[in-house]
Amino acid sequence: MSPPLLSVRDLVKRFPVRGGLLQRQTGQVHAVEGVSFDLDAGTTLGLVGESGCGKSTTGRCVLRLVEPTSGEVRFDNVDTGTLKGPARRTLASAMQIIFQDPFASLNPRMTVGAIVGEGLVIHQLAANAGERAARVAELLSLVGLKAEHARRYPHEFSGGQRQRIGIARALATNPRLIVCDEAVSALDVSIQAQVVNLLQDLQQRLGLAYLFIAHDLSVVRHISDRVAVMYLGRIVEIASSHDLYTRPRHPYTEALLSSVPVPDPRVRRARIVLKGDVPSPLDPPAGCAFHTRCPIAQKGLCDVERPALKEIAPGHQVACHLRQS
Ligand code: SF4
Repeated sequence: MSPPLLSVRDLVKRFPVRGGLLQRQTGQVHAVEGVSFDLDAGTTLGLVGESGCGKSTTGRCVLRLVEPTSGEVRFDNVDTGTLKGPARRTLASAMQIIFQDPFASLNPRMTVGAIVGEGLVIHQLAANAGERAARVAELLSLVGLKAEHARRYPHEFSGGQRQRIGIARALATNPRLIVCDEAVSALDVSIQAQVVNLLQDLQQRLGLAYLFIAHDLSVVRHISDRVAVMYLGRIVEIASSHDLYTRPRHPYTEALLSSVPVPDPRVRRARIVLKGDVPSPLDPPAGCAFHTRCPIAQKGLCDVERPALKEIAPGHQVACHLRQS
């Protein structure tokens, strides 16, 4: 069996917190705590959780936009932490990102052609201006825009079109992996569906792998082969999309799913409302990080012992003391 395109092992990212006159370190934010997963070429892993759970930091560590505190990220079986100089730049062209806010991430003073063609210049992928213009036109057509749009500016486009420009920019370097960081979260529901369909179409045509980060489980379902649920910096459940939605095992996944509307009116799901707020990542709770809000937490066990992520069925892993089958 060939190794996965992306393999993440025991990824940890802690941000120092400084204070006082001398700006001494007073603590640290535990953003990502021992995250591991694999992603095969041409497939999608959805990464879901409430805001602040560490999913975006995980995506940025994968791309090494943020340097992990510890852990390993292997891309194409190469430890990306060991790469330097030209090898690092080649890696940067093979892994791209699409951001949440398509307007904020596009320079308003640059034409669409300059934005989409920027990666071609940085990575020297076009021999001259003519070749660059032809490739920009090709990329715009790939995402459903017209060649003449290259002469316009971002403010002349709708939110959905701006996100298409962001996708064209990401595709410029012929990436094999794209981190979609809340890529459709800011769009209207109907536009979300169009952009998700476009991403799926591009995946089939170009063999792309996506790490699809979102807080909304209903969006992730349609695009993901597998889904990982994160809580306070850790993966608490990971399974195939079908298993996770039809047979969730972790109480947190159950609570998230209970708020997702079910398309079939005959199916009724009881809403699970979690008590309290997500604890601060500055001082995560001992034991299971979810025990302060878990409806079935057991005193003396869940508040003391951290549950490991264990395989309870083929390809289905859960971190819960009480859900071991
Ligand atoms: Fe709830 Fe305990 Fe399972 Fe954590 S380990 S999810 S607190 S039952």
